Amino acid sequence: MRILITNDDGIHAPGLEACEKIARELSDEVWIVAPESDQSGVSHSLSLNDPLRLREVADKHFAVKGTPTDCVIMGARHLMKDMPDLVLSGVNRGRNAAEDVTYSGTVAGAMEGTVLGIPSFSLSQAYAFSTRHTPYWNTAVKFAPDLIRRVLKTGMPRDVLVNVNFPDCPPDQVAGVSVVTQGKRDQELLRIDARHDGRGNPYYWIAFDRPLSPPGQGTDLEALAQNRISVTPLRLDLTDTPTLTRYAQALR
Ligand code: MN
Repeated sequence: MRILITNDDGIHAPGLEACEKIARELSDEVWIVAPESDQSGVSHSLSLNDPLRLREVADKHFAVKGTPTDCVIMGARHLMKDMPDLVLSGVNRGRNAAEDVTYSGTVAGAMEGTVLGIPSFSLSQAYAFSTRHTPYWNTAVKFAPDLIRRVLKTGMPRDVLVNVNFPDCPPDQVAGVSVVTQGKRDQELLRIDARHDGRGNPYYWIAFDRPLSPPGQGTDLEALAQNRISVTPLRLDLTDTPTLTRYAQALR
C-alpha cells in the first residue's frame, strides 16, 4: 500500500510526525507533501493565481507553498508516479467536528483525495485549553492504524471520506469508538474581536467562545465529550434531497 500524507498545520507540525507514525504502521511506502506554513481554515481552496513552489525536505518528504488541496494534487498527480492507495490528512492540532468540517483544511485534504478517487481519511486530535500546547498525539498514534485498517476492510464507497477525531485524553482513558453524525454548535460562538494597533487604527480577529448547550445525541461533539473516538463518513455530494424534492415540485 502506498500512502500519501498531508497536514494543514504545515510541514513542521507535530501532528504530521504523528501521522507518519500511523502510516508506517500500515505501509513501508509513505510520501509526505505538506504546506510550508499553517493553512488551518483554508478549507478546500486551490492556488490558481500563484505558482506552486516545491521544496524537497528529505526522501519522499516535500513542502509546497500552497494549500493542503494543492499538496494532495502535487503528491498524487506529480510526485508519486502512480496514484496512492490511501490519503491521510492530519493529524490536525485540534478537533474537526460539527461546522469545523466546512472550514477545515484537514478535512479538505481528505476531500481532495476522494475527488481523485483515493480512499481518504481526515484525522484530528482534540485538545482543551489545558492541553493546548501538548495535545495527546499518542492517542491518535495508538488508535488510528487499527481503525483505518478496519474501515478499509469494511469498504469505503467512492465519493465518501472518513472524518476521525481523537478525544482530548491519554490513550488509556479512551472510552471507545463511536460512529456518529456531524454535529452542530450554537450559532453565537463566532464573533469579531476588535482591537487597536499602536497608532490607534482598528484591526480585527475572528474569535470563538465556548459551547453553551450540551452536544446533540449521536454527534461527533457528543462522542468527544465522552472521551470517545468519533468516526463520521462524509459525502462529497452536498445535495439536500428532501429540499430538492420540495423545490422540484414548487418550481415546476
Ligand atoms: Mn489545522
